[in-house]
Amino acid sequence: MDLNEFELIYKENRCEIKDKEKIETKLKELIGNNNVSAKEIDLLAYSKDSTLIGFNWTLQGQIAGLPDFIVWPETVEQISEILKLVNQEKIPVIPYGEGSGVVGGAIPVYGGIIIDMKKFNKILEINDKNLTVTAETCINGMNLERSLNARGYTTGHIPQSLYISSLGGWIAHRAAGQFSTKYGKIEDIVLGMEVILPLGEVINFKTIPRASTGPQLDKLFIGGEGTLGIVTKATLKIWPYPAKRTLISYAFPSIEDSFEAIRKILREQIYPAVIRIYDQFETMRHFPDIENAKDKVMAIFVCEGNPNLVDLEESITREKSEKNSGVDCGVHPVEHWFETRFRITETSAMPPYKIVFDTIEVASLWENALDIYHSVLKSMKQLQGVIMITAHVSHFYSNGVGIYFSFGGVPAKEQSDLEFYQKCWDTIIKAVLDAGGSIAHHHGIGINRSHWMESEWGGSMDTLKKIKNILDPNNILNPGKIYVDTWKGGEN
Ligand SMILES: Cc1cc2nc3c(=O)[nH]c(=O)nc-3n(C[C@H](O)[C@H](O)[C@H](O)COP(=O)(O)OP(=O)(O)OC[C@H]3O[C@@H](n4cnc5c(N)ncnc54)[C@H](O)[C@@H]3O)c2cc1C
Repeated sequence: MDLNEFELIYKENRCEIKDKEKIETKLKELIGNNNVSAKEIDLLAYSKDSTLIGFNWTLQGQIAGLPDFIVWPETVEQISEILKLVNQEKIPVIPYGEGSGVVGGAIPVYGGIIIDMKKFNKILEINDKNLTVTAETCINGMNLERSLNARGYTTGHIPQSLYISSLGGWIAHRAAGQFSTKYGKIEDIVLGMEVILPLGEVINFKTIPRASTGPQLDKLFIGGEGTLGIVTKATLKIWPYPAKRTLISYAFPSIEDSFEAIRKILREQIYPAVIRIYDQFETMRHFPDIENAKDKVMAIFVCEGNPNLVDLEESITREKSEKNSGVDCGVHPVEHWFETRFRITETSAMPPYKIVFDTIEVASLWENALDIYHSVLKSMKQLQGVIMITAHVSHFYSNGVGIYFSFGGVPAKEQSDLEFYQKCWDTIIKAVLDAGGSIAHHHGIGINRSHWMESEWGGSMDTLKKIKNILDPNNILNPGKIYVDTWKGGEN
């Protein structure tokens, strides 16, 4: 195989390592011969993450970014030594979990060294009294959850990517699972962490339910996307596996009615673990055989936990749904969701048909939510080439929602896939910002959203950049993500 045969998408401002042999020898001295690779097949494997446009590129013989080395460290000390080396040599490093990120977070846009965390994959302790689990951060999501389930626990953090993502990736992107209304998002679940800073120092954040010990610096690394530190170990909350689970579904005449029912449920401090609303288009796609849901908006609920509480949650969920014109659709739609919830081929099936497809999740207060939904649909329908724009809502708060849009389309003749893709992204994000929303709910920023960070953060973005500069003065840790920057690492 000759990698030169592939067209490279991210080729500007690459770090050119002058003496690759020297770097390879040093890396091997630090972590062993078998833990370092510069083989083309490995470089190709780590040239992308799961960002959907990457599938289109692969089919067209293009690769996203090209790393120079892949390393598989086994200890915290080894990572620390690698970071000291790359600071001396001014080489970018990119932490890599399982590559399921969908915003380009793990793509080596300037080349450099991929630090694949796969060898950090153990559960270290399950503590029944404290209800905690401590694990290394590249434990696979499903392996963690299965091990806990076998002992009678759950973390309650079940993203659709459970089988293909890691604890470190969840922390890096501030992930959210399907059962998040009850159990919280990853930032509500993490109680303690070990982090290696860009210059190689190791910091440990105590595992504690809460503390009043000055600013809580640990929060900086939840959502840091591998730009501020590498998370090697984390302690999470766990719960006894739920004793009862009740499945409920209602079809509503409109998205307005469904939002109103759910807003009223949450106002009562009732938190069904799963709440999902599918707009009319997605209801048609996912529940075509449910007679009561024809041309309607399907909402599904899962209440789980202590049986008495579950019964109460069920009765209030039903009362509020029916008061807002909901029609009971029984358990079948929820069973269907359980059967299909990890089926992830819907999106990856599009690129072979030359369709550019992606999903964009955004957040909003209740007062802006409907405005955002309608203005995104309106602006996308006006965009040339767009053939579908639909939404579901899968994360709810007493104060607002996370809305998840899916779009697909075909670029015009003179347009590249990437140009069309960016046009769609920009159209959606602009509509969201104009209507008072926030640009990302749980997939993170990566490359896809970085140029919108100034609009999202306003003047405060400078403070974030200053923090990055202090922690990572040579900009070696995952450059090109979150902040709009170019590789300025200098000579090596
Ligand atoms: C089909 C599908 C469904 C998905 N469903 C969900 C969902 O339900 N909820 C959700 O939140 N997301 C979802 N995602 C997105 C993705 O799974 C998450 O972003 C996940 O958190 C990424 O984990 P990963 O281990 O694959 O990380 P990677 O893709 O390997 O890396 C993501 C980012 O994290 C950084 N990183 C990785 N490990 C570390 C570490 N140890 N320390 C510091 N930085 C690190 C990387 O540098 C990169 O910036 C989905 C993705 C797909 C493809």
